[in-house]
Amino acid sequence: MADIIRLLPDHVANQIAAGEVVQRPASVVKELLENAIDAKASEIKLIVKDGGKTLIQVVDNGIGMSGTDARLSFERHATSKIEKAEDLFNLNTKGFRGEALASIAAIAHVEMMTRTDDDEIGTHIKIEGSKVISQEVAVVPKGTSMLVKHLFFNIPARRNFLKSDQVEFRHITDEFHRVALAHPQISFCFYNNGGELFNLPENDFRKRIVHIFGRKSNEKLVPVTEDTQVVKISGFIQKPEFAKKSRGEQFFFANNRFIKSPYLHHAVLGAFDGLIRPGTHPGYFLCLDVDPASIDINIHPTKTEVKFDDEHTLYAILKSAVKHSLGQFNVIPALDFEQDQNLETPYNYKDKGISLPKVSVNAAFNPFQVVEQKTNVGQRNYVKTNTKGWENLYQGLGTLENEGVTSNMEFESEAINGSIFNASNDPLDTVGTTFQLRKKYIITTIKSGMVVINQSRAHQRVLYENFLKNITIKEAVSQQLLFPLSLSFSSGEVEILKEIRENLCAVGFVFGTIDEDGVEVKGVPVVVTESEVQMVMEQLIADYQMEVAVDSFSQSDMLAKTLAKTLSVKTGEVLDKQSQMTLVNDLFACKETTLSPFNKRTYITITENDLDRKFI
Ligand code: ADP
Ligand code: MG
Repeated sequence: MADIIRLLPDHVANQIAAGEVVQRPASVVKELLENAIDAKASEIKLIVKDGGKTLIQVVDNGIGMSGTDARLSFERHATSKIEKAEDLFNLNTKGFRGEALASIAAIAHVEMMTRTDDDEIGTHIKIEGSKVISQEVAVVPKGTSMLVKHLFFNIPARRNFLKSDQVEFRHITDEFHRVALAHPQISFCFYNNGGELFNLPENDFRKRIVHIFGRKSNEKLVPVTEDTQVVKISGFIQKPEFAKKSRGEQFFFANNRFIKSPYLHHAVLGAFDGLIRPGTHPGYFLCLDVDPASIDINIHPTKTEVKFDDEHTLYAILKSAVKHSLGQFNVIPALDFEQDQNLETPYNYKDKGISLPKVSVNAAFNPFQVVEQKTNVGQRNYVKTNTKGWENLYQGLGTLENEGVTSNMEFESEAINGSIFNASNDPLDTVGTTFQLRKKYIITTIKSGMVVINQSRAHQRVLYENFLKNITIKEAVSQQLLFPLSLSFSSGEVEILKEIRENLCAVGFVFGTIDEDGVEVKGVPVVVTESEVQMVMEQLIADYQMEVAVDSFSQSDMLAKTLAKTLSVKTGEVLDKQSQMTLVNDLFACKETTLSPFNKRTYITITENDLDRKFI
């Protein structure tokens, strides 16, 4: 048989390598910023257009390149940063593979202008899809400017795979945050579609954090320092009370390089254990300085995952350092520990002395008479928060048949339609009653047996349909706040809020100004209490970051889902009889009754037959 193995031509090899290095515009941004840092720049400018799809430019005032180096830098495995394999074990630079420029030039139109301090004239090179179009001498400032246009122009499949400009832009912003945080001593500017987004002067770490995440982030920070032989730890954690629904502000830097480490993350979480509400995430900005020889950055081409030699020790030191800071800065005693609901005395029994049980009989009691029930806020046994009653959840939420509370005694035959709730002529069968099991399920009888409703999922369904309706018909009722709230968000979060502002207004939020300095909330949907606003917004942003909605329907859908999830009654909450009944009525008045908005079963039925079979 003839020989069939061929060496791939360079431009093909480069394209393949590009697949590893360049996943999206943000990867290009990362590589170019890192090259500028390796070139010892003190000022770096990042300019992007259309989420980086049309243009990414990084301008630095670093050491620049000679004409020959400029040309060579685009060759694969061309690097000035390591000479021999051993150098890999003592890395002080960001790059070392010599792949980035070759990869980028293989899949985009690239222009480089560069000049060293010694040269008076610089170099201007144009490359398109690995092909050098031109190389000329040029009068350019000292340093390097890299311009990357039309990313993936020659790989349509990859280009089509890119997300919307907004999403790609968000990835770029994340990358920018990471690099800018790792290098506070370098000044950075970031322009997006012609507008200046960040202008970060050279600073210390704390001020850099504050410049990026907004003025109000300053008060949240607690310093962490630890100096051991294995590792030097510095940086900040956010006070536990600022723990967020989203994981946004969690940064580890190892030797000035942003890294991801689920293992070390776990160490930090361990230190916060018991100090933050379940489902919230603490923020941290932690720098670990270790001996470069004890860390292997080589394991991943994009170099965010690293391997430390002595991870266990690092884990222990980190955890205790964070704990120490939490203690030292008096964060722990100031905390308001959440009470365990299970330990709480039931509302009705609170402040009551011990007394002999009394028996009283209502002689006028008639089981067949429909009893008029009053909505009595003072007597509710619904203890979600002190400020909110179940009844609030329903005010202004539209017109589900929940006005029918007064007739709830007949719900089996009247308020409910659907086959399982067949009307019965037997009066004894229509005495609707509910019962809460393990603060989780509402049980009620039906003609054929009983229904077991998952309270949280059922409420999610009810809220979801209401919110969706409100968004669609734009008829939400909002309550004006006496004093507008001023909430602070990072600039990335503010961008997201701007994107979903219209829909937020449709469900009842009223905003004043929304900008980097803060978000002014003047009104909220009736179901949201003032103290919940920040949490709700954070959840919305977190969800929106996770799953980006492309069209307006999915945006509304997501918003309704998030609000439903955040505001619904949870497992573990005690509901009084009336709330139980209202929930049952409302669930079965929904368009879809069997599934929660997250496609989980809302209820099951157990028939008399099922029960009989168990007693055989
Ligand atoms: P690596 O960074 O892994 O060495 P790159 O492909 O990113 O590989 O860059 C190749 C080489 O080009 C670098 O080693 C460096 O010598 C040079 N280079 C790249 N960008 C710059 C820059 N902004 N300023 C000066 N030199 C640069
Ligand atoms: Mg590089």
